[in-house]
Amino acid sequence: MQRLALFDLDQTLIDLDAAFALWAEEFAEQHRLGRKGVQHLIRLNRNGLPHRELFFAKVRERFKLSAPAVSLWAAYRRRMPHLVECRPEVLTGLAELRAAGWRVGIITNGTADNQLGKLHRTGLAEAVDGYAVSGVEGIRKPDVGLFEIAAQRCGMASGEGGWMIGDNLLADIGGGRAAGLRTVWIDHEGRSGKEHPADHVVSDVIDAIALLHEHGRRRPGCRP
Ligand SMILES: [Mg+2]
Repeated sequence: MQRLALFDLDQTLIDLDAAFALWAEEFAEQHRLGRKGVQHLIRLNRNGLPHRELFFAKVRERFKLSAPAVSLWAAYRRRMPHLVECRPEVLTGLAELRAAGWRVGIITNGTADNQLGKLHRTGLAEAVDGYAVSGVEGIRKPDVGLFEIAAQRCGMASGEGGWMIGDNLLADIGGGRAAGLRTVWIDHEGRSGKEHPADHVVSDVIDAIALLHEHGRRRPGCRP
């Protein structure tokens, strides 16, 4: 198996919830929504409204905002790249993987402006060999095609194995498996009892990086 490690971006390499909480504070202040407004935004986000167009339609309706949902969503995409951070130890971990002979890539679903903005603002774009953004390529995880693009961007052949690391069981783990990759599930909520098809489960991406090093050491040469 080739030394290829593909990482999801949101909630894997970066803490999107933390950035969202900052955004919610700013948005509530700007629109005078108060503390309850902040809580409502965070609840709405947690309650499975990851599709932002629908999210902003609900927000607009709830707070009787005059701006159209598409404008609110566009402003969100402009602002979010400035609020996300990648922890220094994660950037160091990726650099150490590459130094150990791994090719490292990022594969993410989302709009081009938001995801590319986040990749560049956090320094992740320069910290990896390649990346594939669904909004740029026109296909989304779990479509195997996006994994193939990511592998090629890293200078690796698609279909010759590697690893996929992510927090979403369908997009990352299901998609990764379909693309012939071994998988590490980032389970933030520690639902270790939950059934899953991943090869490994960790609670933080740092542990996933350590695991890859371990596999690389166990099988020196080209079969980590
Ligand atoms: Mg994710």
